[in-house]
Amino acid sequence: MFGKMVEIVENVYAYIQGNGEWFVNNAGLIVGDSYAVLVDTLSNEQRAMEMKEKIREVTEKPVKILINTHGHPDHIWTNHLFDAIAIAHENGRKETLTAFVDVYQTLFSDLDFTGAKITPQDVTFKKELKIYNGREIHLVHPGVAHTTGDCYVYLPQEKVVLCGDLLFAKPCTPLALGGSILGYIKALDELLNLDAEIYVPGHGEVAGKDEIVSAREYLEFVYEEAKKRFDKGMDWYEAALDIDLGEYKDWRESERIVGNVARAYAELKGEEMQFSDLVEAGRRMLEYGKD
Ligand SMILES: [Zn+2]
Repeated sequence: MFGKMVEIVENVYAYIQGNGEWFVNNAGLIVGDSYAVLVDTLSNEQRAMEMKEKIREVTEKPVKILINTHGHPDHIWTNHLFDAIAIAHENGRKETLTAFVDVYQTLFSDLDFTGAKITPQDVTFKKELKIYNGREIHLVHPGVAHTTGDCYVYLPQEKVVLCGDLLFAKPCTPLALGGSILGYIKALDELLNLDAEIYVPGHGEVAGKDEIVSAREYLEFVYEEAKKRFDKGMDWYEAALDIDLGEYKDWRESERIVGNVARAYAELKGEEMQFSDLVEAGRRMLEYGKD
């Protein structure tokens, strides 16, 4: 009902859901000689059970390893339904532990989070980790970007990258609220410089370098527009409402401008955002465009 399993190269799949709406994320499946590696889980039990069925349609091999690309709820909340050793960047694991279902259910009261649960990962790493399951799988942390604990999954022989939310493929709007706009731009440069052709985004359809460039342009636009208003002394929320999104107005979840400007301001001031600041920016973001 929700997702499709797309074979992007032999035995490597992107599990694509929806059009990149809130909590409707993509996952990936890398089938090796004796077992499969799953990249990310989904935001509720029904979606996860459907993905399990789709996995069984393409392989009988067990899913032994689960990679979480970061600690955001949609990517981790059904880890418990997959009997696998789970791996994340060390900050991704920390963020997993604070992905409280009740906080998100309050913010997104219309969404179905049935069966969602926090299950922290078993293994963490700092910069890079490699898995060998008949092919080479590189997990790389590019620094603070979409969150503080992102990693992308690079298959050098296949020239494939499973980006997690380091890539929201246009027309999905990138979100940097929990990370860094400047760090995100740097991470996208790193992705662009890889010897790769296929980029699976965390939200949106299977992509290539063009979508990386577009996401990068959007983030540069946000930073520049936020800085102009910061220099004039506007407060962050006023600035977010004042920015004319132009061509980005028609991108999905354009309200993310609010969260992105909140983050840009924190960077311009050189300040950390506390958990309560993030929740407040999230609340205001979801009010954007509503009367
Ligand atoms: Zn995310």
